[in-house]
Amino acid sequence: MASPRGLSISFFILHLFTFLLDPSNSVRTSFIKLPGSEGSSSAAATYCKSWRLAAETNNAGTWDVIPSTCVDSVSEYLNGEQFLSDYNVIADYALAFAKTVELSGDGKDVWIFDIDETLLTNIDYYKAHGYGSVPYDSNSFNEWVVQGTAPAFDASLRLYKALKKLGFTIILLTGRDEDQRSCTERNLRVAGYSGWERLLLRGPEDQGKSATNYKSEQRGKLIKQGFKIHGNSGDQWSDLLGFAVADRSFKVPNPMYYIP
Ligand SMILES: [Mg+2]
Repeated sequence: MASPRGLSISFFILHLFTFLLDPSNSVRTSFIKLPGSEGSSSAAATYCKSWRLAAETNNAGTWDVIPSTCVDSVSEYLNGEQFLSDYNVIADYALAFAKTVELSGDGKDVWIFDIDETLLTNIDYYKAHGYGSVPYDSNSFNEWVVQGTAPAFDASLRLYKALKKLGFTIILLTGRDEDQRSCTERNLRVAGYSGWERLLLRGPEDQGKSATNYKSEQRGKLIKQGFKIHGNSGDQWSDLLGFAVADRSFKVPNPMYYIP
């Protein structure tokens, strides 16, 4: 027969287990690590990688801001080696295609580049604005554009120079407004770009048009003028889709914003 001391130890152990196994007891999780509890951040990281892929492939369709749970994941990607590696690989594919193009030599063989997040990186601006987790503010972004301090992507500059050397005519097609022409040209030159044939910006008649429509119309005009659009590089699907599309389009990554 158990002694009174043995009985009280048994009761204590029983009470302890009852306490620990009671799901209503929130204190329990503070000192017992459940197997799944460490998986939540890993699950978020996995989800955010899937979200980025969905955004890049346009499976996500139109979106306003990045999911709040993905700010760290997007920041890590943008500031790590992967982002720059992705640009490099895309530049390599673009250049490999460009080398297969038979140029006519009449100056009409065109490669189109978008500017923001394609030739120039605005990551310093977006770093100070939540990496796309806060709604776009045109006033503050335009203040940044006027400064003209956005650096080039090394891979894009490499591709740009190589295309020029091959004999392509470079046309820049941007959603920036006509009144930002001089600061845009200055920024491009400081970043290392030169020798473009045209810089096409949104005029008064283009205000209110979707980027897809505006850029398609501009490409359509070029084709009417006899240009052949072999390649097109942009960070938005609206740089590349629509009508009068290039023979090959090259989408560089942008997990920070979506322009329809
Ligand atoms: Mg862009």
